[in-house]
Amino acid sequence: MSTVQGRLRIAVQKSGRLAERSLDLVRDAGLRVVKGNNDLLYKVENYPIDLLRVRDDDIPTFVADGVCDLGIVGENVLEEGKNANPSQEGANASVVMPLGFGKCTLKLACPPTLDYAGPGSLEGARIATSYPKILRRYLEERGVSADIVVMRGAVEVAPRLKLAAAICDLVSTGATLEANGLVAQETVFESQAVLIRSPAAPEPGLQHLLDSIIERMAGVVSSQG
Ligand code: ATP
Ligand code: ZN
Repeated sequence: MSTVQGRLRIAVQKSGRLAERSLDLVRDAGLRVVKGNNDLLYKVENYPIDLLRVRDDDIPTFVADGVCDLGIVGENVLEEGKNANPSQEGANASVVMPLGFGKCTLKLACPPTLDYAGPGSLEGARIATSYPKILRRYLEERGVSADIVVMRGAVEVAPRLKLAAAICDLVSTGATLEANGLVAQETVFESQAVLIRSPAAPEPGLQHLLDSIIERMAGVVSSQG
């Protein structure tokens, strides 16, 4: 990748649940996005701005490190990734504003056969999740100690396979839980897409553009609210 000088960078999810709405927001804010000569970088033709298209999990780190000035990511990913890189401690990306899309809830769910009467019912149990940090904190705050098993995907099949007694997974409609015979019990974390900004200053001369992009995005979001 060639180093781009004198441009702002916005990190967006390349493909997935946030990809389209993220691009829509950028376009609605008046940025004319054109495909670059590679998949990773899209260019904005009417401003010195590039879109870096990456996996959502990488977005908080890129923005925290100043590789990108802005990013669009789910709060769940941001929260789980906080201080993920020990050398960067204290330099997290900060939330500029919630964006009103990508809404979902991290829920604790279990099969109806588990006699659930509150988080305490999970004491000593095995719980599968892709969000071990958020779940651990939730359980600790409630004095519950459980065995957290990290799964990157297909968390909802864990109880059926006897890999775990319960799961903690993202839910939007609840259809996936239902299809897997699971009952939602607790809300662990409410999430939506957020605009995040870097603790690092943009390249020289670009602060004004950065501020105006944020302002326009805020205008788009509030007009949709
Ligand atoms: P990537 O390839 O970028 O790593 P991914 O598979 O991790 O993609 P997606 O499934 O595209 O991620 O979800 C991206 C984000 O969309 C989630 O982190 C979450 O903030 C949001 N989201 C909204 N609804 C849901 C849902 N029902 N299940 C999972 N994520 C959801
Ligand atoms: Zn991801």
